[in-house]
Amino acid sequence: MKKIYIVIIAVLLLGFIQIWNYSKSTTSQLFGDLVHRVDTDEMVVALTFDDGPSTAYTSYIVDLLAEHDVKATFFLTGDEITRNRAQALEIFKAGHTIGNHSFTHPRMIFTTPSEVAHQVDDTTAAIRSLGYEGEIFFRPPYGKKLYFLPRHLEAKGITSITWDVDAERGEDIATYTIENVKPGSIILLHVMYQSRETSRQAVPEIIEGLRAKGYRFVTIPELVKLRRG
Ligand SMILES: [Zn+2]
Repeated sequence: MKKIYIVIIAVLLLGFIQIWNYSKSTTSQLFGDLVHRVDTDEMVVALTFDDGPSTAYTSYIVDLLAEHDVKATFFLTGDEITRNRAQALEIFKAGHTIGNHSFTHPRMIFTTPSEVAHQVDDTTAAIRSLGYEGEIFFRPPYGKKLYFLPRHLEAKGITSITWDVDAERGEDIATYTIENVKPGSIILLHVMYQSRETSRQAVPEIIEGLRAKGYRFVTIPELVKLRRG
């Protein structure tokens, strides 16, 4: 093979790797507003739960948060809201914030504009059908976004929310989270499926540990308000 072809292939491959890495950046996207944490001196932190609502674990987590007097933010999928409407209403009526986590949870990197519109707008409609009137934020499935998704969100005036503390990265979820939270942090957790037992078990320890350090728990709209001033 001619050297020039090897160089071209290498450049294309590098470009692809860079695009792939950029698509999962938690701190940057091409269009619109993205928040991964808020710079503040206030001892505030936001607990966020992705996926669901599930029939199996929604009541468990809602009761747990009530026991600890914590309001959290749940990024739900439109498909699961539609199928498990009673559980979605349970989260809403308990006073938690509901966010948009797409309709069927695809990786939206090379997704077409019409598919992006379905994923975002039909989920917004499902959330509104619950009677939810607050601002609706968006969390991309797998943190993935590239061109059409951010462009659509910007056009709709929707802010993307990622995280600065991926709790499940820690060998011990609670210890890792408590050590890595800073004022204004956003914690990512998954508690809706059977496979997430260790995450569910970590929640009380995270709440108690962060409170012991002087933190109070806020929702995403409350946190974002601090940034907007
Ligand atoms: Zn998810």
